[in-house]
Amino acid sequence: MSFRPLVLMTLYLVCVLVLTLVAGMFSRNWALDSLHDEASDRLLSNVTQLRTALDQYRYLPFVLTQSREVRTLLRLPDADVGGPVDRYLEQINLVAGSSALLVLDLSGWPQASSNWRDQQELLASSQSEKQYFQQAISGHEGREFVQEGRPARAALYLSAPIYDQQDLIGVAAMRLELDKLHEQLPIDYPFLIADMNGKQLFSMNMPATLPSSSTEVLGDGTQVHLLSLDDNPYLMHSVVLDDLQWRVSVLVDARSVGQQQRIVAGSIAGAGFALGLLILYLREKRQKRALQREQARERVLNQERQQDMISTAQVGLINIDAQGIIHFINPMATQLFGVTAESMRDREFSTLIVDDAAGDLLRETLSRLHRTQHEPLTNVETIGQRGDGSLFPMMVSVRGMAHHPELGYLVTVIDISRRKRLEQALREANESLEHKVAERTRALEETQAELVQAGKLAALGRMSAQVVHELNQPLTAIRTYLAIGRRQLENPQMQADNYRQLESLIDRMALITGQLKTFAYKKPEALAPVPVGQSIDQVLGLFRGRFAEMNLQLCYDPPGPDVQLSGDQARFEQVLINLVKNACDAMQGQEPPHRLTLLVSEVGEDISLRVEDNGPGIDAEHREQLFEPFFTTKEVGTGLGLGLAIVHSIVRDLGGDIHVGQGAEGGACFEVTFKRFN
Ligand code: ADP
Repeated sequence: MSFRPLVLMTLYLVCVLVLTLVAGMFSRNWALDSLHDEASDRLLSNVTQLRTALDQYRYLPFVLTQSREVRTLLRLPDADVGGPVDRYLEQINLVAGSSALLVLDLSGWPQASSNWRDQQELLASSQSEKQYFQQAISGHEGREFVQEGRPARAALYLSAPIYDQQDLIGVAAMRLELDKLHEQLPIDYPFLIADMNGKQLFSMNMPATLPSSSTEVLGDGTQVHLLSLDDNPYLMHSVVLDDLQWRVSVLVDARSVGQQQRIVAGSIAGAGFALGLLILYLREKRQKRALQREQARERVLNQERQQDMISTAQVGLINIDAQGIIHFINPMATQLFGVTAESMRDREFSTLIVDDAAGDLLRETLSRLHRTQHEPLTNVETIGQRGDGSLFPMMVSVRGMAHHPELGYLVTVIDISRRKRLEQALREANESLEHKVAERTRALEETQAELVQAGKLAALGRMSAQVVHELNQPLTAIRTYLAIGRRQLENPQMQADNYRQLESLIDRMALITGQLKTFAYKKPEALAPVPVGQSIDQVLGLFRGRFAEMNLQLCYDPPGPDVQLSGDQARFEQVLINLVKNACDAMQGQEPPHRLTLLVSEVGEDISLRVEDNGPGIDAEHREQLFEPFFTTKEVGTGLGLGLAIVHSIVRDLGGDIHVGQGAEGGACFEVTFKRFN
């Protein structure tokens, strides 16, 4: 709820509350005023009744003063008329309903009493001090209220002087206990008589002591006194009787005041709330009606907007029912199919689809539309048929109206001719590109093959040049020696030397061709166990002479006979021969001592052989070319540069690996690993 209605509602509630309070106050005021009037009326009637009741007794003392027997009794106390006077008083007392009648002499002593039978004490005391006596003796009517007896009871004394021939001879008195008034006052509500000091003299329907009262001033200035008796509220109204010096009060039940106040306040509050609710209801109703009007306006606007969107949409929109009958077709769709909206109305949508496989799927979907579980069809490509019979590719979706299934289905049609054309163009471009790539690849492969061929030829040329170079030397020498030999036919000794030289040259040529042959070896089919220790011993045996010549120190700890590698013994020995020979060649030009270390170790599944010398070592720049064929740093005629190339080729064929590094003493260190034979 917004702020303003909340404030208004709060204000209204406050107003209703204030109105309720004010109405309650006025109703109380009015009720108290009425009650006050009622109490005044009652009091007036009570006072009248009281006065009437008292007036009955007012002349009783005077009646006594007129009695001859009474006067005789007072004149002649010894005349023995006391008895008859007593009885006389008794009768009058009975008839009048007073409490007692007395005849007093001038000194206040009772001479006769109506209660002579049972209240002798009345005769036993002088009344000279009593006010009523004093008033009578002074020639007036006397009146006095006294509280007498046990328990104390309020009594009214009335008196009159008794004259006999102008002489005051005594006083006639009447005693009326106020309780007697009960019988004469028909009052059923609280009634109270108090003296001017507030002392309670007589009460009816009232507790002995009254609680203190509170005073309330009414709107017209009237003061009302309220008090509570037995938890009930009462309004007390009093009047002072000046002649009697009495304050007479009545109490009126004031419960009706509260009830009336509650009824009025409740009615006002109820009416206020009811009015509030009515206002709220009317306001709600008005707002609801305004909202409905707004919604209706919005709906119309929406419909117009939707109609606008449908009409201007760049896709064909067709509304069909469950039987596939067209109910609505938008301008774009009529344009696509080259038809008019009127000609399409109530026609089957399937007549706009050409007969083919994709069209069949669409037709099947359309035939299943009336079933409750219909799967929406999205982006089906098919061929549409225009009104003039021409065809065009289109993409069709069929969906139920999500919020209004009763409105049937919406068919979306998009002309995909342009896309199809682009796809075709793309396909052709792709195909031509693929063709070009294939051609280019083929050309590249040819170029690569030519390059490889050229490389091979270059390597072959390099190798041929080296081989020619290597073989030319001994061939030239052989030719020279043969010429020398022809001339030396007569000197057989010189001929023998010549033949030796020739043999050594032919050996060298055999060595070259033998080493080149190694490259032509085929990789061994099956690998055999090669006892490493045995092969090493074999090779070291070959070099024994050279070691002795060089005074070489050999550090070698032979491995056990079970250390066998997987390979070919002749090839493994060839590897060893090359490495040991190279080490010896390297150390040859060096200052002694010459040291060669051979170390065989087993590393996991591999067997490692380390060949280390204390020669000059290998420059870092040469390490990469070391295993290339014909790389040598040796002088022409001494090295072919094939040794390490052969080693590398053999190690690779046997499934091993070779690394070159620097030894602990600065020489070369070759580490070769082979597969262990299991
Ligand atoms: P060649 O011994 O015929 O020169 P190799 O292929 O056996 O052919 O050796 C190639 C080159 O490797 C050698 O010329 C030499 O410079 C270098 N080389 C091989 N082993 C060692 C070695 N232990 N210490 C120093 N250099 C070596």
